[in-house]
Amino acid sequence: MDTYDIRFPTSRQLDGSDAMNPDPDYSAAYLVLRTNEPDGPTGHGFTFTIGRGNDVQVAAIEALRAHIVGRSVEDLCADPGLVSRALIGDSQLRWLGPEKGVMHMAVGAVVNAVWDLAAKRQRKPLWKLLADADPEWLVSQVDFRYITDALTPEEALDLLRCGKDGRARRESVLRAQGYPAYTTSPGWLGYSDEKLTRLAKEAVAAGFTQIKLKVGADLADDVRRCRAARAAVGADVRLAVDANQRWNVGEAIEWTRALAEFDPYWIEEPTSPDDILGHARVRAAVAPVKVATGEHVQNRIVFKQLLQAGAVDIVQLDAARVGGVNENLAILLLAAKFGVPVCPHAGGVGLCELVQHLAMFDFVALSGTTEDRVIEFVDHLHEHFAHPAVIREGAYTAPLAPGFSADMHEASLATFAYPHGTFWAADLAGALADEATVEVTA
Ligand SMILES: [Mg+2]
Repeated sequence: MDTYDIRFPTSRQLDGSDAMNPDPDYSAAYLVLRTNEPDGPTGHGFTFTIGRGNDVQVAAIEALRAHIVGRSVEDLCADPGLVSRALIGDSQLRWLGPEKGVMHMAVGAVVNAVWDLAAKRQRKPLWKLLADADPEWLVSQVDFRYITDALTPEEALDLLRCGKDGRARRESVLRAQGYPAYTTSPGWLGYSDEKLTRLAKEAVAAGFTQIKLKVGADLADDVRRCRAARAAVGADVRLAVDANQRWNVGEAIEWTRALAEFDPYWIEEPTSPDDILGHARVRAAVAPVKVATGEHVQNRIVFKQLLQAGAVDIVQLDAARVGGVNENLAILLLAAKFGVPVCPHAGGVGLCELVQHLAMFDFVALSGTTEDRVIEFVDHLHEHFAHPAVIREGAYTAPLAPGFSADMHEASLATFAYPHGTFWAADLAGALADEATVEVTA
């Protein structure tokens, strides 16, 4: 297992800027599983961070090394659930969670790398591996601990068996039309109104039927930006807004109501991702505006409670926040049980590449629909991936390369490894030189 601290200097263009994260350097704590098969595939996985702390995240992945190195590749790939349980069940590391935060994200990165390897060995894209799998085997991949009060293994099996009906037809629809996407690219908080308007119009022209704006820093600015966005896209395109956890419950209600005249489709992360009852109150107060959250929801247990409490209209699972594919299967099954649409979070580094597989599996072999479902798309950093997500007419095209689309180019790893990759070494040397100049001048 090789690990990498990969950071991109995105803060310099304000790409990714929002009310809580004004200067993100989009980063990946990245790992590669190498085997002793000379021509065999490698397994790639990562989790997403936004700069400082990516070294902490890499250290957490390193802490899992003993559970993975030296194991039989065949055993790992036959049953990723086994390794998922071993990683989550490490009793000393579990103290750092349980099942939340840096350690849990590290588990997710490693588990996802195992799934990448498994899918490559089966020569299938991950969505196809999952869609072809026996319902019984998929159920065996889910950890039902703490969720059986909402979803039993028997219910999950029924959902997956029903999901098989019409699977072949939906797979051909997916291959022909892709999976609907929406774009956040116009809406970063640091962009000027002119840039927002231009990008919003471009998004509609490119076939997107929904865009998203970051809000929550200043109400007068938000009113002006929402007005500009609504004018740019017209009445028929959905306009979502995203506060990135900026508000208390009361503020979330007032602020969302103040933006209601622009007909926002959903308010995303109105408050703390841990505040289940707060989300329920916001949802009751701002309807018909929908409430969405999930990119910072720590695990299946919190998702379960959000659904039980009627606190969300939309589940925004993230491929790299929770414990990997196995836990996301649990979350997809919970959402299906409660009949709540999943609109995955993406963007970041490689999150689009990963999460499309989960949504496509859900369409082909679980929920069976794309109605009111869209995957987020953000158009940057895809060039670093060997099999980048491809958008056509506002939809993700189904990836066909074997694996989880997680492989980054070797050259990108070598350039953006922090702090010794070629980009950062030169950048840090330049900063030191600048400091020296200041000293001399002073
Ligand atoms: Mg968001």
